[in-house]
Amino acid sequence: MEEFEDDGAVEFFEPKEDVRAAHCRRVAANVLKKAGVTQPPVPVEELAQSAGLIVVRADLPRGVDALLRPNERQIELASNQAQVRQRFSLAHELGHYHLGHAHNESQLAEAQANIFAGALLIPSLWLRRDLPKYRTPGALATRYQVSREAIFIALKDARLLNRL
Ligand SMILES: [Zn+2]
Repeated sequence: MEEFEDDGAVEFFEPKEDVRAAHCRRVAANVLKKAGVTQPPVPVEELAQSAGLIVVRADLPRGVDALLRPNERQIELASNQAQVRQRFSLAHELGHYHLGHAHNESQLAEAQANIFAGALLIPSLWLRRDLPKYRTPGALATRYQVSREAIFIALKDARLLNRL
């Protein structure tokens, strides 16, 4: 059976191939637009259900955060993970789904799914809009229901770190 097993261990991956980040962000923006989602926190579980995917919590093997089972149209999330991590893992798997990745194929696919997840949960336009009001990574993390680490990455990608 084809499936993804995700341990999220791609942070230091330097892609040789073009990661096509702009494409990944555009696909994420389209998902939000189609669903009419205009502010955080993004209802990522509803977005999965809208795509016809079933989301379940399960005891997954150690080190595995999430599994996408395309044949069963099911995403399994490790039930022992913090809520914000489950949200990011779910967004990451949605990335594999919407970007049409065949199966656990490459580090490139992992990097693309992470870019999609960041763009889905923390769109740079929203971040730019919110920054004057929510001035700390902690306040932004609470508003977006993501980790502070995810906020830092989003701020860096949007070149907004110096605005904190
Ligand atoms: Zn993945």
